[in-house]
Amino acid sequence: MSDTIRFLLSEADLPRFWYNVQADSPLPPAPVLRPDTMEPVTPDFLSVLFPMELILQEVSQERYIEIPQEVREIYRLYRPTPLVRARRLEQALQTPAHIYFKNESVSPSGSHKLNTALAQAFYNRAAGTKALTTETGAGQWGSALAIACNFFGLDLEVYMVKVSYRQKPYRRILMESFGAKVFASPTDRTQYGRSVLAADPENPGSLGIAISEAVEAAATSNGQKKYSLGSVLNHVILHQTVIGQEALKQMEMAGEYPDVVIGCVGGGSNFAGLAYPFLGENLRNGRKTRLIAVEPTAAPSLTKGVYTFDYGDTARMAPIVKMYTLGHTFVPPGIHAGGLRYHGMAPSLSAFYDAGLIEAVAVPQRATFEAALLFARSEGIVPAPESAHAIRVAIDQALEARERGEKRVILFNLSGHGHFDLAAYEAYLNNALEDYEYPKEAVMEALQHLPQVAVA
Ligand SMILES: *Cc1c(COP(=O)(O)O)cnc(C)c1O
Repeated sequence: MSDTIRFLLSEADLPRFWYNVQADSPLPPAPVLRPDTMEPVTPDFLSVLFPMELILQEVSQERYIEIPQEVREIYRLYRPTPLVRARRLEQALQTPAHIYFKNESVSPSGSHKLNTALAQAFYNRAAGTKALTTETGAGQWGSALAIACNFFGLDLEVYMVKVSYRQKPYRRILMESFGAKVFASPTDRTQYGRSVLAADPENPGSLGIAISEAVEAAATSNGQKKYSLGSVLNHVILHQTVIGQEALKQMEMAGEYPDVVIGCVGGGSNFAGLAYPFLGENLRNGRKTRLIAVEPTAAPSLTKGVYTFDYGDTARMAPIVKMYTLGHTFVPPGIHAGGLRYHGMAPSLSAFYDAGLIEAVAVPQRATFEAALLFARSEGIVPAPESAHAIRVAIDQALEARERGEKRVILFNLSGHGHFDLAAYEAYLNNALEDYEYPKEAVMEALQHLPQVAVA
């Protein structure tokens, strides 16, 4: 097997269960608070937005949760995804390291996000939901949910950040092809959107504003519509663990075990989906794999943020959670990795980072595109600008291994392809991309607006 490139599982090897790291975590879960009263949330409060089955998954302590048969059926359209040994990249780097990547870009939507979109659409349909609302920035999440809603017969309203709506018509058309209704946010459809437009008719929108509109649209629908989120929450991360569970089996096929596991982090779901099954091995079986989360210097919540309670959205309608945050009013600079422009981080990942169980690094934009093109020219895949952050650090690890003359086994998540992000590549090729340093003053200002929470 030593010269095998692609490690492929059969459909029968598709995981039957999602893995819930909470069962193996030594850390107590922090409370989730209502944004209005700052009291712990009740299922009642959450059930306006989510079906009960997802709320139960959010707080579950069970190690394994069965994947519904109907979800597995659709997973089979693209799962198990390949694990690939990046031999041509290794050669280009002249490194003794072995570099593997889990290829989530082969999903019909082009990223890992379909793994949770299908599960969320399934549980909503089962609970009698008629329609979902959501936000999307660059369009990866909206595309995944549009495909999932199409399969499960749900209507979908997507609040798409206005600048992206204008700059990325093809993502919008993809969503519409699957029957979704896409609106440029801020819209005049919600009270919050109208208030933003009244203050500034030219407002280009932001992810925070779009989340607030989607939440409001669900909350005021008399139970007809529920809201769906593509990252951050425990149930989203749970659904993504199919990635790491497959990768564990595939690394075994390769006869190796990773020394380092790497993923980019926006809200944390693709990194956690790959890394948590390996973290479980660290916690239960004494393995010592390093788990490295990679974020942009433009939105460095783990490496520069504060570990505290903060709102999940700009309009302060979403629950308050304990996480590494740059402040909910912070709007990150316009890097092309739209999926990484979030002020906070998944609470579970924040807690593991705080406890030293995972590591984090921040990388500047141009270095990620340099890595992306080296990867593309070696392996033939143009990666999503988000995934390029993971590739940058995988390459840095391989170069360090070369310097030290070490054989190191590196595994990273290729969370998506970049076929809808070619304008970003054009900007890089034309030498017109900026590096955004850590926007310290904006973060310091935003951190003045944290909620005053009196919880131990
Ligand atoms: C959304 C997205 C991300 C970032 O989200 P996470 O929840 O941190 O995974 C990363 N890569 C791609 C391709 C995405 O679409």
